[in-house]
Amino acid sequence: MSSPLPVVAVIGSLNVDFITRTTRVPAAGETLIAQSFDIGFGGKGSNQAVACARLSRPKPSSSSRHPGETGRPSPSVDVRMVGAVGSDPFAEDFLAGLRQDGVNVDAVRRLEGQKTGIANIIVEEGSGENRIMVAANANYALKAETLLPVDADVAVFQLEIPLEVVLNNITEAKRKGLEVSPSILFRIRLSNSHRSQVILNPAPAVPLDAAVFKGLSHLIMNESEAAILSGMSDEEFGSADLDDIASNFLVRGVRNVIVTLGAKGVFYHTSPWYAIRKPGTTLAAARATVVDTTAAGDTFVGAYAVAVAKARALDDFDVDAAVAFANRAAARTVERKGARAAVPWLDEVDGVAE
Ligand code: ADP
Repeated sequence: MSSPLPVVAVIGSLNVDFITRTTRVPAAGETLIAQSFDIGFGGKGSNQAVACARLSRPKPSSSSRHPGETGRPSPSVDVRMVGAVGSDPFAEDFLAGLRQDGVNVDAVRRLEGQKTGIANIIVEEGSGENRIMVAANANYALKAETLLPVDADVAVFQLEIPLEVVLNNITEAKRKGLEVSPSILFRIRLSNSHRSQVILNPAPAVPLDAAVFKGLSHLIMNESEAAILSGMSDEEFGSADLDDIASNFLVRGVRNVIVTLGAKGVFYHTSPWYAIRKPGTTLAAARATVVDTTAAGDTFVGAYAVAVAKARALDDFDVDAAVAFANRAAARTVERKGARAAVPWLDEVDGVAE
């Protein structure tokens, strides 16, 4: 089914977060009474899909939060979540929550006999440290088949589903760009400028084969992910030049390399291979009163994906505007507690002309 709006497909994880807050973590064999407990619907895939959906339209007023109701602001992109949940009682609430945020969940499989992915998160209130244990469950039951919707203009991947599923679908997304025209010359142009642009957010990071980077439109990673993909320790990365780091990916075929730098903002380098001697750009973080940085990276990726989708063709894409928008959106997220709950809507991001 084709869509009049640009389609962003997020192919990734859906995890139920069990968040327990405690003054201190229990020692081995010890039982403690927690300060509080919450259930949230997260996972990097789901969080990024929510970020795309919210950042593609203003927040619906509380009286018009149901699909189809008049007064619901129209989105500028069609966001589709692709992944898997189990057949447990969490699955339906999870999908209902995504629909409520404007995410199409038709391509989320409900796997009989499987459990939905779970993240057990213990937050030690004194130190602010998190301890997280993920049981991937249904996320890892996905097989290496093609999951990508045929009409996706932008495909967004992270690494919380099996690596072979990600790699197969990235290959498929790149190939789709080649299928549109019968002419060889035109094919080459389309492969980089029209359909199925790929955004890879390699989190959690593992070293990746060089083939992934060839023809990859956008690579977005934080500093520790960039270190792992560059084969460096955190110390080596800390003293490395970001231009050199980025050049490494540009020569391997990535078109836009973005390294998020937390409170320091973001570095990006986006040059064709023949001009990589030009330095990249560092953009300072937007001003924010930090409450909780959870989901800052996911908001960044979602916002950036919306900007890519709106441009449709890579040649019309304004990377400076996209990075600036994503940087402002992510700054709003750090001002609020929680993961998905903290992701802003379009009208909550300052300075957005819409
Ligand atoms: P991750 O959450 O994946 O580790 P980062 O910590 O690099 O990613 O943060 C992602 C983005 O969130 C940053 O590039 C920046 O735009 C925004 N951000 C993070 N921390 C702050 C902060 N303290 N103030 C303002 N923006 C922030």
